[in-house]
Amino acid sequence: MAMTMIIAAGKSILNGIAIGKLKYYKLPEIEISDSEVIDPERELQTFEEARQNAIDEQKALYEKAKLESGEDTAQIFEIHAMMLDDDDFVSAIREIIVSEHKNAVYAVRTACLRQAEIFSEMDDPYFKARSADVEDICQSMLDSLTDRDRVPAQGTEPSILLAEDLAPSEMIRLDKSLLLGFVTMKGSVNSHTAILARSMNIPALVKCPEVSEEWDGREGIIDGYNSCIYIDPAPELRSTLTARRDEDLKKTALMQELKGKDNTTIDGTTVRVYANISGPWDTQAVLQNDAGGVGLFRTEFVYIGARDYPSEDEQFLSYRQVLETLSPKEVIFRTCDIGADKTVDYMQMDPEENPALGCRAIRICLMRKDFFKTQLRAILRASAYGTLLIMFPMITSARELREAKDILEECRQELVREGRKIGKYQIGTMIETPAAVMIADELAEECDFFSIGTNDLTQYTCAIDRTNAKLEPFSDTHHPAVLREIQMTVEAGHRHGIWVGICGELAADVTLTETFLRMGVDELSVNPKNVLPLRKIIRGLNLKEPKEI
Ligand code: PEP
Ligand code: MG
Repeated sequence: MAMTMIIAAGKSILNGIAIGKLKYYKLPEIEISDSEVIDPERELQTFEEARQNAIDEQKALYEKAKLESGEDTAQIFEIHAMMLDDDDFVSAIREIIVSEHKNAVYAVRTACLRQAEIFSEMDDPYFKARSADVEDICQSMLDSLTDRDRVPAQGTEPSILLAEDLAPSEMIRLDKSLLLGFVTMKGSVNSHTAILARSMNIPALVKCPEVSEEWDGREGIIDGYNSCIYIDPAPELRSTLTARRDEDLKKTALMQELKGKDNTTIDGTTVRVYANISGPWDTQAVLQNDAGGVGLFRTEFVYIGARDYPSEDEQFLSYRQVLETLSPKEVIFRTCDIGADKTVDYMQMDPEENPALGCRAIRICLMRKDFFKTQLRAILRASAYGTLLIMFPMITSARELREAKDILEECRQELVREGRKIGKYQIGTMIETPAAVMIADELAEECDFFSIGTNDLTQYTCAIDRTNAKLEPFSDTHHPAVLREIQMTVEAGHRHGIWVGICGELAADVTLTETFLRMGVDELSVNPKNVLPLRKIIRGLNLKEPKEI
């Protein structure tokens, strides 16, 4: 008898489709006794052994994750090892054993539940998702304390795994040749399990409350595009989604072939194709998509992800990590572009009538010099660890650019006096206001490169708020005024012997790639996933042929 199709919604972690048999995985339960122990000393020793075993296990998981998903994501397990060594965390467990006379299993479970609850009650989605990491290290210690084997059984046939939740360590232990995708009742798109799965291109749904053991053995399709799973899919749907999955696989294979190839047109014109990133978490995508470098590191996300002003050292570590991971590739650091649609509570910025025209980007940095200096010092210190370029956002006058450069120079001199190592760096200007376009010749005298921010340039040229969806009917992403401004900027830059790139969304618009190359644009910086499709277009262009109208 044909089963009726079930559709269950969840949160998709990536756009992809997985089709296969469903396999339900249940975490083996353990019994926890809360009776008093006679020998707390012995329990302390048992706990200590379990903690050490768990630390060793994180090291092994790190090595496996490094091979499967790259060094950046593998660092999750280094963080787990550090959590297992955290003094407060260890003391909380020891305290339960010593003061409450409880066994090690009970103490670990209780302390971890408390810690996980603290994270899960936080507002910030990133910190909220860290409760899953506490749970993972807890389970790791419980494995050791109870001699439990926590490897999900996968059988011999590739399948889609169903579970209440899946820990990062379980994800890494799984045999990926047998894993088509997974669906969990709990979890979050920000969890480390989701990050690992994304880096390995494994379709998955999290927060799908309907997941049921009864689905075990039936056929399922994860439709990551529509954030749902179909159980016993109708035949027509099955064939449509199979065709879509095969198309995706073909595209991925085609893109893989482009890795390592030049971004050179048929007539021999080469353009640099770089990637835009928001933090160290994006560096794997840069490498996986074979971007030539980073054309825009939106450093404000280091601030947006923090609960208070990130210190110079915190920023330095983040920036250094990006540079070291990507070295020797160039990384263009755009200084903090906070304000307008990107705000943080701790900066306590005054409400404004027109935030997009207000205290944002370079303006706020010049108004709050100490704040700016903290970032510039961190960036300069990081420059010793890779190939760094620095650029300033929202410049509207040569005076602003000169002022920003003077503060940068002041920081450089301070660091030299402190005996810090500083690498070489180029200084660039973002061209994202019509004013900057009009004075591009003057600005070019003051810097080493231009990077055109077409998102803001379009907003300010057409006077259309980029965040207002109602204005969509009025917006023209190919507005001739913006295209002319790009041309003017390239010409001005080249007149003064500096290179010109585009780092706004328009850089990824393949219907304009030929236009940009004919204009003489030197670099295009796009979302990492657009690097290879852009390379494909570039390699098919012939600029010697007359342009089709
Ligand atoms: C732009 O304005 O085009 C740009 C790249 O900067 P952001 O989108 O971060 O404002
Ligand atoms: Mg901008």
